[in-house]
Amino acid sequence: MHTRFPDGFRWGTATSAYQVEGNNTASDWWLWEHEPGRIRNGDRSSLACDWWRHAERDFDLMSAMHQNAARLSVEWSRLEPHPGRWDEAAEGRYREMLRGLRDRGIEPLVTLNHFTLPQWVADRGGWLWDGIIAAFAAFTSRFVRATAPLVDFWITVNEPVGLLISAYILGQFPPGRTNPVALVRALRASVRAHAAAYRAIHDAQPAARVGVAAYLRPVQPAEPRSPLDRWLAARLDHVINWMYLDALKTGRLVGPSGLRMRVPEAVGTLDFVGVNYYTRTRIAFDLRRPGNLFARADRPYDAEMSDADYGEVFPDGLLTVLREARRYGLPLYVTENGLPDADDDLRPRFITEHLLRIARAIEDGCPVRGYYHWSLVDNFEWTDGWSLRFGLYALDPVTQVRTPRPSAGLYGEICRRNALP
Ligand code: BGC
Repeated sequence: MHTRFPDGFRWGTATSAYQVEGNNTASDWWLWEHEPGRIRNGDRSSLACDWWRHAERDFDLMSAMHQNAARLSVEWSRLEPHPGRWDEAAEGRYREMLRGLRDRGIEPLVTLNHFTLPQWVADRGGWLWDGIIAAFAAFTSRFVRATAPLVDFWITVNEPVGLLISAYILGQFPPGRTNPVALVRALRASVRAHAAAYRAIHDAQPAARVGVAAYLRPVQPAEPRSPLDRWLAARLDHVINWMYLDALKTGRLVGPSGLRMRVPEAVGTLDFVGVNYYTRTRIAFDLRRPGNLFARADRPYDAEMSDADYGEVFPDGLLTVLREARRYGLPLYVTENGLPDADDDLRPRFITEHLLRIARAIEDGCPVRGYYHWSLVDNFEWTDGWSLRFGLYALDPVTQVRTPRPSAGLYGEICRRNALP
């Protein structure tokens, strides 16, 4: 018995520009990663996976795995390294990369903002700068027009809630703030920037499909009988998972305390939902942690953990979030799913188990149209540097040698058959 997927199902891998291109020197992350203490072991992105010069080498790997789709992002700071100054050569290189995918029968899904900003935007205040909405829409419009007809499938922003919590509450991403008021302002700006970019894309390409990639995870009470655990889990579930997507439906951004902000221009600016799924979170109410919204993360004693305790392997959670995401009545794509597992002892089963949950979701009537594994090749894992290995291919960032992990063979077989072996 094979579990088959619907005809036309998209099989891909996912990457982001900063994590793979190398030498993104005009990006806010470049300055950030060079500050002492920001990145584990003092790692640097440096050449990363050397995509800026040689992405085609990895496109060949995708093609050998029979992928018919790929998710990648573009670096705004390459295209507009200084305000209003467009780099034609960078635009040409992106067109060349996109054509390289098309020539291999691979459909690109392009993310316009995957965590980074140009340093000049950061200098003006980043997500708190009044001009960011217009500037992001102008960049989007120009890039979309420049790359037509190679792309008609877009993600405006990747994991906006997680990004802004890391940047404005946890202080782990630039600009390293820990200020809830700044977070609220940044969230509203992000929703408005998404809406402006959505319109800019549809003005240029009426038939385009435009979505966001949301990090979704079940947030469960550590002790289901505890009313406080249940109450806190429900609040966090709303904030982490649904607050942003709901705003694109209702035009209201509703914070955890019930604070409401109007964003009327966002209504109806979503053609599909991108689901990034990694793990679940279990939450216990803890009076000793006011700074953490009284939340303490907890895990079952028998949890199966990926490398460095990054997260619990929990395939059922993917089925849960797909069922819940059905509420938007839109096509769903699993735009990221993976784990750090350098010796690949968990990944083959991880892939199979998560794909079984997708098959089950489709049987239940969830309109899941594609799966993009994170990631093709080990890449620069933000504050964790090179310490976490998410690739189907292992990478030595010094020699740039790629070595397939057993999972690469398995995933290639799945893509080829459009079915689980
Ligand atoms: C992000 C990726 C990151 C991955 C693994 C996702 O949340 O979009 O950029 O590499 O998680 O941590």
